[in-house]
Amino acid sequence: MPVAARTETESETETETHCPYCALQCGMTVDSGARVRPRRFPTNAGGLCQKGWTAGELVGHPERLVTPLVDGSPASWDRALGLVAGRLARLRAEHGPDSVAVFGGGGLTNEKAYLLGKFARVALGTSLVDYNGRFCMSSAAAAGTRAFGLDRGLPFPVTDLDEAEVVVLVGANVAETMPPFVSHLSEARQVVIDPRETATARQAVAAGGLHLRPAPGTDLALALGMLHVAVSEGLADAVYLDRRSVGFEEAWRVAASWWPERVERVTGVAAADQRSVVRMLAGARRRYLLTARGAEQHAHGVDTVTAWINLALALGMPGTPGSGFGTLTGQGNGQGGREHGQKADQLPGYRRIDDPAARAHVAGVWGVPASSLPGPGCGAVELLGSLGRPGGPRALLVFGSNPVVSAPDAAAVRSRLAALDLLVVADPFVSETARMADVVLPVTQWAEEEGTVTNLEGRVLRRRRALPPPPGVRTDLEVLSALGAALEAPSAFPSEPEAVFEELRAASAGGPADYSGISYARLDAGEALYWPCPSAEHPGTPRLFLDRFAHPDGRARFIPVEHVGPAERTDPEFPLWATTGRVLAHYQSGTQTRRVAELASVEPESFVEVHPDTARLAGLGDGARARVVSRRGAARAVVRCAPGLRADTVFLPFHFAGEQAANLVTNPAPDPVSGMPEFKACAVRLEPE
Ligand code: SF4
Repeated sequence: MPVAARTETESETETETHCPYCALQCGMTVDSGARVRPRRFPTNAGGLCQKGWTAGELVGHPERLVTPLVDGSPASWDRALGLVAGRLARLRAEHGPDSVAVFGGGGLTNEKAYLLGKFARVALGTSLVDYNGRFCMSSAAAAGTRAFGLDRGLPFPVTDLDEAEVVVLVGANVAETMPPFVSHLSEARQVVIDPRETATARQAVAAGGLHLRPAPGTDLALALGMLHVAVSEGLADAVYLDRRSVGFEEAWRVAASWWPERVERVTGVAAADQRSVVRMLAGARRRYLLTARGAEQHAHGVDTVTAWINLALALGMPGTPGSGFGTLTGQGNGQGGREHGQKADQLPGYRRIDDPAARAHVAGVWGVPASSLPGPGCGAVELLGSLGRPGGPRALLVFGSNPVVSAPDAAAVRSRLAALDLLVVADPFVSETARMADVVLPVTQWAEEEGTVTNLEGRVLRRRRALPPPPGVRTDLEVLSALGAALEAPSAFPSEPEAVFEELRAASAGGPADYSGISYARLDAGEALYWPCPSAEHPGTPRLFLDRFAHPDGRARFIPVEHVGPAERTDPEFPLWATTGRVLAHYQSGTQTRRVAELASVEPESFVEVHPDTARLAGLGDGARARVVSRRGAARAVVRCAPGLRADTVFLPFHFAGEQAANLVTNPAPDPVSGMPEFKACAVRLEPE
C-alpha cells in the first residue's frame, strides 16, 4: 500500500523516515520539532527501543558542530576545503595516489558510501579505501558468499520469523541491540548461544528455550559437534544434500572426529544440550539459524560462520520455504554499506574490483578508462596499521566513523593517526577521532538529509529530510562534490542524493546487488523493494535461494572447516577471556548516544561484567573500580557482578572512550579471509584500579 512521505496534522508536519541507528531500521516519524514517534513498519511493528525514541535529541544538540575546524579553530568552508584539496593534491603529486587513504562507515547512506568509493578510486586514484564494516560484517559476508554465492544478511524478510517454531541465535543479543526484533520470535522456541547470560538468553530460557554458554572462541567446535549429532543420529536431510548442495563429504570428514563429548571438553557445552538443539531443529518444520557478531568477530570468524552454515545445510534449512540461515547485520546501513564500493575489494553492485568485466562496466558509468581504476586495497586493520609509516599513507579522510574508539588495539590506532601529515574527519559531532584531526568538516545527520539505506533484510528504504540542517552544515555529498571539483576529477560528483542514486543504479546494474530497478519514485510510492531488483518492472526479491543458490551450478557449498581457537591464549599472567559487545542504551562508538542525556544517564560509564567468584579472586566486589589488562593495554571499568557469566570470561561494552575504551585491550588479529579482527576473545587479567 502506498505510504505518504509526509503527513500534515493540524499543527505539525510529520516526515516518515527510519531510525538513525541499527540495521533493523525501525520506521518512525519526525516532526518539525524533531519529536520522534514510532510508526508501523514490518521490522518494528510500531515499536522503538530507547535509542530510537530519544534520537530527536541529536537534532539541535548543543554540541553539534556547525563550523569547519582547522587545527581546532573555526574556519570558513572555503578555507577548510581549499586546504584539504591543496594538501591532497600535493601529497598525490609528491608521493603517489596511495599516499592518501579513505575510511568510511556502515552507517553512511547508500549514496554516501557509493560516492565515497568513487571519490577514492576516481578523484584520488587510491586503492586504500575501507570502512568500519570490516569490523562488524566482513566475516559473515565472506562466509555467505562462499557458501551461497551471494551475501545478503537475511535472505528473507524478518516477518518470516513470526511463524518460526525454532530459532537458534548464535552470538546475537537482540533483546539489547534491536529490541523490537524480539517480537518476531514470540512463537518460536529459542536457543541462545552466548558465553554471557544476556537479556536475550534470559528471555529465551524464561519462555522454555535453552541457553548454551561456550567458552569464547570455541563456537566453531560447537557447530562441528552439532553437525556430528545431525549426521550420526540420521537427522541430516539426504534429499536436500543431494539436490541442493555440494561438498558435504569433505565437511563431514572434519566433523566426524568432533563427537559431542569431545566438544563438551573444548566448549563447556554439555553433550546433551548439543543433541537437544539439533533434535529441536531437525524436528521442526519452520526453523531458522541466525548468527551475529559473537560468531563473526574472531581471527577465524569466516570459518566459524561457515561451520554454522554447514550445520544449517546438513539440516536442509537455507533456501527452504519457512526455514533459513541468516546473519543479523548491526550497523544502520551495514548491508548497503558493504555493497557499493567503500570496501577495499569492491566496486558498486557488490562487484569485485579485480574482475575485468566489473571494472569495465563501472568505469563506463564513470566515464573513465578501466585501466585508471586502482586494484584492491587492504582491509581496515592493515590500513589503519600502515598510516604514517614509511611508504604508507600520509593522509586519511574519515567519513562516518570513529576508529579511535571502534578499532581494535585503540592505542596503536591513535599513534598511527598521530603520525599522519593530514587527518580530515567529516562528522556531525567532534568525535574522539575528530579531536585529533587537522580539519573537521561539519556534515548533516539522519533527520536532515535525503537518501537510502538497506536494512538487514536487503530491503532498500528511504531516509527523508524532516528538518533543515543548521546553517553552516553541509552534506557529505556536497563535501565530496566540492573536493572532486577542486581536485579536477575526471568524472562528475553530483551532490543531490537522487542524482547519486541514479548513478548508483546504473553502476550496480548486472551486479550481484543489482539496484537498477529501484528508484526514489518507487520507494516513495511505498513499494517494498529488496535487491536484486534488475528492472523498473521487477518486484524485487524478498526471498533468495528458494530455487537455486547463486553459484553457477545453483548449489550451496559445504566448506570443510576445523576448530583452531583464538589467536592468543590465556596464561597465568592473563588468565581470563575478555569479550566485547553492545548494551541497550548505546550504539557503536557512542559519538551519538553518549550525547543523549537519557541514554547517558542509564549507562554513564563503562563497566566490566564479571562472575562473582572471579571478582572475589581479583579482590573486587560489585561496584568496585577495576582495570582490565591485556597484552596491548588496559581499560578502566566499574565491576558489575554477573552470576550467569562464565567464570573464565569478562565482558566489556565497546561504546566508551578514553581510558574506558574496551578496544584498548582487544586483539587486532585479523581473519585471513575477511580481515575482521578478533573482538570477541582476548586474554586479560582483572585488577583493582
Ligand atoms: Fe529500532 Fe535499532 Fe533504532 Fe532501536 S536502534 S529503534 S531497534 S532501529
